[in-house]
This record gives sequence, C-alpha cells and structure tokens, in this order.
Amino acid sequence: MDAEFSSRFEAAIAKIKQVVGEKQIILKGEAFEERAGDTSPKVQRPAGFVFPASVEEVQAIVKVANEFKISLWPVSKGKNWGYGAATAVHAGALIVVLERMNRILEVNEELAYTIIEPGVTYGQLNTYLKENHPHLWTDTTDSTPEGSVLGNALERGLGETPYGDHFANLCGLEAVMPTGERVCTGASPSTGAKTWTTHKWGTGPYLEGLFSQSNFGIVTKAGFWLMPAPESFSSMLFEVHDEEHVVPALNALRRLALKGVIRSNIHAGNNNAILMILHSYYRDYSKKSAPLTKDEQDHLCNRFGVALWTFNCGLYGAPQEIRAWKSLIKRELSAHGTILFMTDPKMAIAQKMMTWLSTHQTSFIGAVGAKLFRKVFGKSLEYAQMGPYQHNLLKGIPTEYFLRYAYCKSANAAPAQGLNPARDHCGEMWHAPAIPFTGEHFKIVRDACRPWYEHYRMDFCMTLLLINPRALVTLMGIFFVKEDPEETARANALHKKLCEVTLALGYQPYRAGVASMPGLLDSAPDYKELAHRLKLALDPNLILAPGRYGVAPFHP
Ligand code: ADP
Repeated sequence: MDAEFSSRFEAAIAKIKQVVGEKQIILKGEAFEERAGDTSPKVQRPAGFVFPASVEEVQAIVKVANEFKISLWPVSKGKNWGYGAATAVHAGALIVVLERMNRILEVNEELAYTIIEPGVTYGQLNTYLKENHPHLWTDTTDSTPEGSVLGNALERGLGETPYGDHFANLCGLEAVMPTGERVCTGASPSTGAKTWTTHKWGTGPYLEGLFSQSNFGIVTKAGFWLMPAPESFSSMLFEVHDEEHVVPALNALRRLALKGVIRSNIHAGNNNAILMILHSYYRDYSKKSAPLTKDEQDHLCNRFGVALWTFNCGLYGAPQEIRAWKSLIKRELSAHGTILFMTDPKMAIAQKMMTWLSTHQTSFIGAVGAKLFRKVFGKSLEYAQMGPYQHNLLKGIPTEYFLRYAYCKSANAAPAQGLNPARDHCGEMWHAPAIPFTGEHFKIVRDACRPWYEHYRMDFCMTLLLINPRALVTLMGIFFVKEDPEETARANALHKKLCEVTLALGYQPYRAGVASMPGLLDSAPDYKELAHRLKLALDPNLILAPGRYGVAPFHP
C-alpha cells in the first residue's frame, strides 16, 4: 500500500467503524490470517475484513468506499476454496463478509420457496427445514455444509438434486448497488407486486443475471426455490470399468437426462478422484510428492474396488415412476457398466452392516465378514462407507466427507470434523471448463488435458457435473504440497496450461478462481466491452470488486 492509499484507507476504516462497531473489522492478527488465505498457490492480500449485520450497514459501507475510493469485495461466507476463498483479484481490498446476515426470513410451504440472507449456509437451511418444514428439501454442494446458499448460487455453483442449478433457482434479489442504493429485481415487493419470488422474469428487462459472476452489486437477500420432498427416492451408482464404454455411457446418460428420466446431477469421478478421497487409507505422506504410477493405481483400484469411472444420480418421484425409470436406465446403461440402486431402507441395512464390520475388524469373525463383504459387493469396507454420504448428498443433505480429497497431498491429515483446507494449508486448485454434453466433447477435453498432468507430474483427477441435459462441467482438480515451492510452481503451471488449452479448444470455464480472472474475457472482446460499459454506468468510481471475472481494472 502506498502512503496516499494508506491514508485514504485509514480514513475510510475510521468511518466504517462508526457504522459496524470496532469489533466488526479485522485488519491483522490470527483471525485475519485465517481468513486471508486459500488453497490456491498465491492470493492477493486483503487490507481487511468487515462484517456488516444489515442491509443499511452494507449501504453505509458502500457510500464510505465511494467517498474514499477504496475497493470492496463482497463474500457471503468465503468458503470458495480453490477458487480464491475470501480474497480479491487485487491486493488491498476490504472484504465485506456477509456471514452475520444469516436469517431465514420466510419459508412458503405451499409454493416451495424460502427468502434468505447471504450468511445462510446449506447446513443451517437443511437443519431448519428438517425441523420445521420436513416436506421441503434444499439442494447442497459436495463441499462444506458451511458454504453460503446465496454465495454459491450467485457464483453459478452446482448441486446434486434436480434443483442443482443454483442460480436457476434464485428468484427475486435485493441488492445494494455500487453507489449505495438498495434495489429489488423483477416484481419487487415494494411496488406491491405479489410474484417477486415466484415469477423469475418479472416485467421488463430481466436483470437478475447482472448480479451473478459479476461486480455490479452486493446481494443482501434473495428468494430461493425449494424442492417438495418426493414420495420416494432411490440413488443410483453406475460404474464403467472399460475405456471403450466411457464415451457411449456418457451419450446414454445424456439421452436419459434429455428424456427427463435422470433429473438430478450426474456426478461422476474418474478412478483417481475416488482414490484421492480414500487417500488416508493408503497414502504414505513421506512419498506424497510423487504421482501414482499405473501399477500403484491398478493395485489401489483393485484393493478398494474402484471403477474406471463412477457415476452417481438420484431418482425422485412416485414408486411407480421410479420403477419405470429404473427399467429405462437398465435398458440404456447395462451394456456399458454395472448399476446399483439404493433406497433409504436398503442403505440403512447396509450402514448397520458396515458399522458392525468396522467395529469388529480385529476379531476373526469380523475379518471373515469384511472379506465376504468385499466378495459380495465388490468394494472394500472403507470405500463402501462412502456410499451413505453420496446417497444423502443426492437428497440435499450436506456433508464435509468429500472435502477429504483436499487433504490428499497435505502434511496434515484431515481432522475428524471441522475440515477447512485453507486453514490447514492444503494445496488445491480447480479448472472447470463447460462442454456440450456428448461423449465426444468429453474425450476431446480429457485427451487434451491428461497429458499435461503427466508432463507436470500430477495425478489426473477429473470429475463431471451436470449443468443441464445439454451441458457438463469437466472439473479438474490439482492437488499439491503447498509447502514445496517446486511442486507448487508445477501446480500453477499446470493450471495455467489447462486454462490455455481448453480455452483454445473453445471450452469456457463455468466459473473461475480469482487468480485466473484478469484475462478471462479477453477471448470475447465485444462482450467484455459491453460489460465494461455497464460497469462504468453502475460503478463510476469502480469500487466494487474491480477485475472480478475480468470486468473493470483495479482502481487504487
Ligand atoms: P461460499 O462461501 O458459499 O463458497 P462465497 O461467499 O465464497 O461462497 O461466494 C463466492 C463468490 O461469489 C465470492 O467470491 C463473491 O465474489 C461472490 N459473492 C458471494 N456472495 C455475494 C453477495 N452476497 N453479493 C455479491 N457477490 C457475492
């Protein structure tokens, strides 16, 4: 920070303290350091964190930022690990953390929606609905239950159930504009309109998109659609064992999604992605820097019963509907792999069996039981224990179980609870190009990216997420030892290369980390220019999240 900026920043902080109170600003110390990091290799250092408690406080902070021309970067919870967490594109931003605004303001059972503030988490909403409105389900991501429902939706994150396209399920936003006014999109309740949270388009230009992956406002409240609990539910595990079946299996899954047979996410992982979740059962931390050799990979897949590709989906409806869908699924998919359907009662029995076996592992009968289990189900007990977490995710029940992969290269083992990969110095980055949902597009991206993992000596970890029946995300994880500068440099170089390669092939990321935001829209100059014009009209001092998604440069 230069002296001129420092004095402006200090003057702004003095005024903001009068708004939120001294305790609601962090400028240094342990609490600052805990929030200022991410799992990605290098982040820009924020100047501080401020925690407003109301929309009025957010408005006042924005006005002060304009007066002193300091930049703000809003986050809801800041658990966006691997994409930058609670850090900005440029150093010196004041991070506006909205976690104290965490009220569930309304739940409408009849119309299946809620109105929430940005600090409401998946865990909180899920518990609240279970206790008060058990006939409604919310969606979840496979990341932390501490993530913000609104933050993820604004970032166009994806979940697991048929309501997994989170931005698509936002309806009715309240935002503080970069000049401090409060506005409601669409059929705003302030005009007496009754459809703010039920009619997404309202009347006139549709503007909600302005607040997604952008820097045009701070969203302080939103309507969010919920899923009526289905009459019955079944999860599906579909495993593809041979290379030649991967592309046809994906095409068959698309056909099922287009027909509406599969309406949930089609959440898939390659063998390495599953092995990384299981790493604590096999990884020798002293050899952590080496990627798995082919022999090691084969041996581990065999030991745990991990397939080449594993897909998880959910079926939701009346029992008759589910029966019909199961037979359609078998008809389309059984030629390409193995299918296992699980209902709640079946999963409860399996869970009981697994608990018994794991507590009796050291006894003779327990050891024989575990072997028998492996033979019958084709999975080791450790791997099968992932099943209930996956089954529940498809019902929108969050878990931190899957965050374990972030620790696969870390010197610190994942704690039993309270996982926080940024705090625990895990090295993790994501590259997430979106592709048209065909096996052929998948093959192009996989074959273009996998050799670069080999080149940079990293384990090729790919998962797939359904955006809609016509588009998929090929989400690639890069895991590295953060304390090792050479490995971190390789991870960074690999990430850069993956961005270059996929963009050159015409596949844009469905979301991006702050480190790759600056040049993000360079390949679409006309679009970038339009976004800049909008930005200047709405934020003449460029105080709000400058540089976010490549829009508007930093203005110190
Ligand atoms: P989560 O904690 O669920 O991962 P974050 O709070 O990290 O979500 O939000 C992800 C990104 O979305 C943030 O970096 C931020 O730029 C943007 N964002 C989050 N909440 C808001 C909000 N209320 N208004 C505007 N932008 C937001």
